[in-house]
Amino acid sequence: MQTQVIDAGGRLVLPGFQDAHVHAVEAGINESLSLLPQFGTAAQYRAALQQAVTEQPGSASDWVIGAGVNMAALLETIASPLALIDEEIPHRPAVILDDLGHGAWANSLALAAVGFDQLTDNPPGGIIDVDTSNRLTGIIFESASQNLVDASQPPTTANLDFAYQSFLHVLETFARHGITTISDAGGYWPRGHQQVWARAENENQLSVRANNALYVYPEKEFDQQVAEIIRLRTNDPNALVRFNQVKIYTDGILSQTTAAMLAPYEPAALPALAAPNGFTYFDPTTLNQYAAAFDAAGFQLHFHATGDRGTRLALDAIAHAQTANNSTGKRHRITHVFMVDAADVPRFAQLGVYADFQLTSTSLTDENLADVEFLIGPRAAAYLPARTLLDAGVDLTLSSDFDADELSPFIKIEGVVTRPTQNIPDVATAIRLMTLEPAKLLHHEDKTGSLEIGKLADLIIVDRDILTVPVHQISEAKVLLTLLGGQEVYRAPQFR
Ligand SMILES: [Zn+2]
Repeated sequence: MQTQVIDAGGRLVLPGFQDAHVHAVEAGINESLSLLPQFGTAAQYRAALQQAVTEQPGSASDWVIGAGVNMAALLETIASPLALIDEEIPHRPAVILDDLGHGAWANSLALAAVGFDQLTDNPPGGIIDVDTSNRLTGIIFESASQNLVDASQPPTTANLDFAYQSFLHVLETFARHGITTISDAGGYWPRGHQQVWARAENENQLSVRANNALYVYPEKEFDQQVAEIIRLRTNDPNALVRFNQVKIYTDGILSQTTAAMLAPYEPAALPALAAPNGFTYFDPTTLNQYAAAFDAAGFQLHFHATGDRGTRLALDAIAHAQTANNSTGKRHRITHVFMVDAADVPRFAQLGVYADFQLTSTSLTDENLADVEFLIGPRAAAYLPARTLLDAGVDLTLSSDFDADELSPFIKIEGVVTRPTQNIPDVATAIRLMTLEPAKLLHHEDKTGSLEIGKLADLIIVDRDILTVPVHQISEAKVLLTLLGGQEVYRAPQFR
């Protein structure tokens, strides 16, 4: 045992932040994609598509990949998005990812590459949008959009090398923000991102511990998918990275009317994209069967749920798995948790389920809350009920959903304690929900998550004492030094 003494100069020392829901490898890749307008005119979309082709030269089999478009706005602006993208990109498959992670815009060659041009009905977990004359619009929602991304990013040597190089920059970003543990929540395993993680660990480049998820596809055959995901599972307690969670979506998102609600959306928000009370990825029986199979195989269940019906489906599936396997203590969790019915609040603690919230600045703006009210009316008052659950004794974590949302832990802390309703009571609690609680969720609180003798030196030095400075200055705090297991992984230029 070797002891190193670092003089923090009287500054605040905290355990490293643990961010239990990020998109690490995807974030790196996304930085390289051609950016299209979120809200554009036909002329702006056309110009951006032409620009994307210029930025990504290639042969007829090479995909053009863009990102950033709001699909609801696109459908309102353009009579046929499919015709427009086919005119601009006729000879190569092209897919444009949306701004929410729940949709994509594809040209005819891309739709044909995944067989969506031949479908007569929606695939499980997906929506193939058609117009009033039943013609394809080129817009694909929910899980089916991931099939397009999978096809556009096969795990070729070149793609994985590119993903690796961009991932290294994302690791630097985590270290700069004082984040020493993450959960990579995407887990679209056909893209081979597990190999990117393994390479980073083999080449001693990892600056975080990571317990990552593998995505459960709604349309895949049950037994084959369970076997394949079990084959990909890794859970070596001595490794920095493990793939020991499954990511299961129960529903979509509120802003797309695909969050599964117990009661219908507001009349003004109807017709909803799928049904008056939203959309589900799996029928409840299949959801329960997957939960039981992966719980039995030792996985932690990481449910995406946003609507109150989506949350209930996840709780039901966890209850089913625990009964079927007579298992407890796995610390399964539900992430996002936009809406929880009052009857379901006590079930979190009863079942030992973690509620993992993203309470970032973007989800708490007046504009965002007005949008939620438009969609679900007075129910919006109970949007993101973090305080209700905290006061009910539910185990809570605060994560970022980076790169879909703000990464900075300090911006998050300021946001959650100053939230007008459903706020976290104080800064110390917010810190705990971003350090010790996620360490418990990820089953390594014996080694990390707090500053204690006997634990690993996953810690940071901060440039100010965020427990005592005025709250509105917390978001400006900077990390000066980040250590992972006692090894320096980031040092600010001004800290010498
Ligand atoms: Zn996410």
